[in-house]
This record gives sequence, structure tokens and C-alpha cells, in this order.
Amino acid sequence: MKEYLKSGDIKKCLANTLQVTFEVTDACNLRCEYCGYGKFYSDYDDRKNQRLSIEKSIRFLDYLIDLWKSTLNTSINQNVYISFYGGEPLMNFSFIQSIVDHLLNANCNTRRFTFSMTTNAILLNRYMKYFIKHNFKLKIMNKNFVLKSATSLSKGEMKNVKGGMSYCDRLQEWANTYYQDVRISDGDWDDWGDYWDAHCSGN
Ligand code: SF4
Repeated sequence: MKEYLKSGDIKKCLANTLQVTFEVTDACNLRCEYCGYGKFYSDYDDRKNQRLSIEKSIRFLDYLIDLWKSTLNTSINQNVYISFYGGEPLMNFSFIQSIVDHLLNANCNTRRFTFSMTTNAILLNRYMKYFIKHNFKLKIMNKNFVLKSATSLSKGEMKNVKGGMSYCDRLQEWANTYYQDVRISDGDWDDWGDYWDAHCSGN
């Protein structure tokens, strides 16, 4: 019988992979109508509010780190995207922290890491400083909702928005309106603004 794929091929792919994505949790704090795990779709596994095991994921990372340090790695100093996906990943923030800490302390000189996360932004204000500190790239799942919320404050404000407010201005309006507990100093917001412009995209 002809062999198409051998275990060595898989190891070599893992030793040179460009991205590792963790489905941090299948839980979510929204119920968007259009959700790929919602009523319009049927080809997904049941959502059970599960959280990915930190212990098992770190074991998997250690396996990868050994491969990255091995002779199977032919991509010296390559950047690897470490991505966090859900559900809503921020409902399992401790997982994200553990994985980031582990990689940053792994002394893996053959790899650089870029962290990224897809999020609905509902809990983002709690953890924003952490994401800035670790230079996360953020993809905001409901960016249109965020912008719509910001732009629906009043007709006058909407006019201003259409007239060219930057995304961080719109987000600040939105945060002020929807999150009573957001307390961002001017200095913090200056950091956030630069960060949003450079690192955040959305759909
Ligand atoms: S935020 Fe994302 S995962 Fe959650 S319900 Fe909406 S589309 Fe689905």
C-alpha cells in the first residue's frame, strides 16, 4: 500500500509551523444571531461551556518547543503566531496568561512569538493593559457593533463620527456609554489610542 503521510512528515510540519491556535473555551457571553455556532448552522460540536486544559496545552507546547529546538526545524528564528480563539477567550483569561508566561520563560531561542486573539471586546477593558504589555494583535469580532453603538449616541455625534473620528475616539465614546466601571486615565487612553490604531482589526 502506498504511504502518503508518515509520522516524520507531521513532526517536520510541527517543527516549522507558522501558527498555533488554542480554542480557549467554547463559552461565550454573547448570543449573536450570525454566530457560526448558532441557530443558522448545524455542523459544529455542542457548546458545553468547556475550558481548555492548561496542563495539557503546556504539555503540547513543550512537545513543540523540543521540535523547534531540534534538527527538524529548518526555519531558524521564525516568528510563530500564538493565537487565542473561542467562544470568547476572555472568559478563560487565566489560560491565556499561563500560555504566554510559559512561552516567554521557555528559553526557546529558535523562535519569536506574536500573540493574537479574536474577541467580542465585552471584557476587554479589564485586561487591556496586559494585551498592550504583550503587544497582542486583536481582532474584534463585533467591531461593527462597537462602531454602531458608538455612532448611535445621537445624530449630532454620528455626524461627527462620519466626519472622521478615529476608531479609538469612537471606542472611547462606546466604553463611556456602555461600561460604567471603565476608569481610564488620560495617560492610559493615549497608550490605548496608539495601540488600537496599530494592532486592532475587526469584522
Ligand atoms: S461573540 Fe462570537 S462566539 Fe460569541 S456568540 Fe457572537 S459570534 Fe458567536
